[in-house]
Amino acid sequence: MRIARYSSQGRVTFGVVEGDLADAAALTVRAVDGHPFAPFEIVGEPESLGSVRLLSPVLPSKVVAIGRNYAEHAKEMGAEPDDVPIVFLKPSTSVIGPGDAIRYPTGISSDVHYEGELAVVIARLCREVPVERARDVVLGFTCANDVTARDLQRAETQWGRAKGFDTFCPIGPWVETDLTETLAGDLAVTTTVNGELRQAGRTSQMIHGVAELIAHVTQAMTLLPGDVILTGTPAGVGPLHVGDEVAVTIEGVGTLTNPVAARA
Ligand code: MG
Repeated sequence: MRIARYSSQGRVTFGVVEGDLADAAALTVRAVDGHPFAPFEIVGEPESLGSVRLLSPVLPSKVVAIGRNYAEHAKEMGAEPDDVPIVFLKPSTSVIGPGDAIRYPTGISSDVHYEGELAVVIARLCREVPVERARDVVLGFTCANDVTARDLQRAETQWGRAKGFDTFCPIGPWVETDLTETLAGDLAVTTTVNGELRQAGRTSQMIHGVAELIAHVTQAMTLLPGDVILTGTPAGVGPLHVGDEVAVTIEGVGTLTNPVAARA
């Protein structure tokens, strides 16, 4: 099932997206009664997905991100893979939805990069989750872009500013809930800029897999329903420029597309 959050005729609601992803124009969405973190009923009539505005599928209290979780990306960053996953936070205020503009912080950074990533959406309050129980706390998976001011990341010891600008965490287009059995263990992750392929990895190349990451993160901090874990980016990161369109696709989930614009 694909769970979206969207605005239609002035109302914001969660809904279920139906149809064949290969025929995007025919996709529809039906509103649900309530929110997806508890049992819900589908109550709405089908609306064309093109007639509604998709929003970020969840509003996380925090986005927990993992650094250098693909060996080839660690190498391109000039680092060795880490035995203990690197954990950092992106503020909730960095989250935007599909189609929303990534705002380029001109004058502060001149080297903003895309990082296409698989995102895990948490279903319930949890802490100290053992690896073997990890799938019990997952609502589903979505696409994310861990947008990074690379020059600031290199210049500063902590990554909070480099990765924390407003609009630097696009997520969406919806949450796919049917991949929890395998914990999205071997899916293609691709990123394009203006239609040109820039990143092509597979989630099976992660150094630390989804279950291990959930266990590791929840040893330290309680996760809440709707919190998101970004699982790291494959090799091929590179710059974005004002006017670009960047798209992150996760096989079996969908495509998250965002324009890059000057700051308003
Ligand atoms: Mg990243």
